[in-house]
Amino acid sequence: MRSRSADRQKGRPVTRKSASAERTVVAIYPGSFDPVTLGHEDIARRCLSFADQVIIAVTQHATHAKKPLFTVQERLEMLREVFAGEKRIACTAFDGLLVDFARERGARFVIRGLRAVSDFEYEFQMAQMNRELSADLETLFLIPDLAFSFLSASLVREVASLGGDVSRFVSQPVFRRLEKRLRA
Ligand code: ADP
Repeated sequence: MRSRSADRQKGRPVTRKSASAERTVVAIYPGSFDPVTLGHEDIARRCLSFADQVIIAVTQHATHAKKPLFTVQERLEMLREVFAGEKRIACTAFDGLLVDFARERGARFVIRGLRAVSDFEYEFQMAQMNRELSADLETLFLIPDLAFSFLSASLVREVASLGGDVSRFVSQPVFRRLEKRLRA
């Protein structure tokens, strides 16, 4: 059987069905999402303008030094509630190397959000390392709406744990969980 890419290279016509199957653009948005904030939501929704499918991938290992506030299962439940209306956004947990997970899911893009210059150095290193590990996987950096450029999950956790009102920074399902967890 001839491959579609061989057909393209040789200028042979590519059938409509196979071309559309090949064109499915999958993007992975990895992170700890402890918990998902309006900044994360903004980035995930922006992906829908160029990706057919967005996979929000919750890392099993903690990326911050402190003990996580929510378990991976709880973080996933909140993500699923928040994106319940978005059929093209799926939420799942993953363990191990991101490049392996991306290959498994047929994703060509890894999405990362950039807030300020302070994010850049770490993100730059990660993107370069991922390129070393998998040359086909492109890292795309998106910037959020200005209103969310200062927002991080760790700040939300900190402000909420000190009794501050974080209802402007997270969606209702997340706010309710935070209240329950911290006021228990
Ligand atoms: P945190 O939110 O604590 O920085 P995450 O691991 O959950 O940590 O972040 C996942 C990804 O989302 C990272 O690329 C991070 O830079 C990005 N991100 C987080 N908050 C925002 C925000 N407010 N605006 C844009 N990107 C963000």
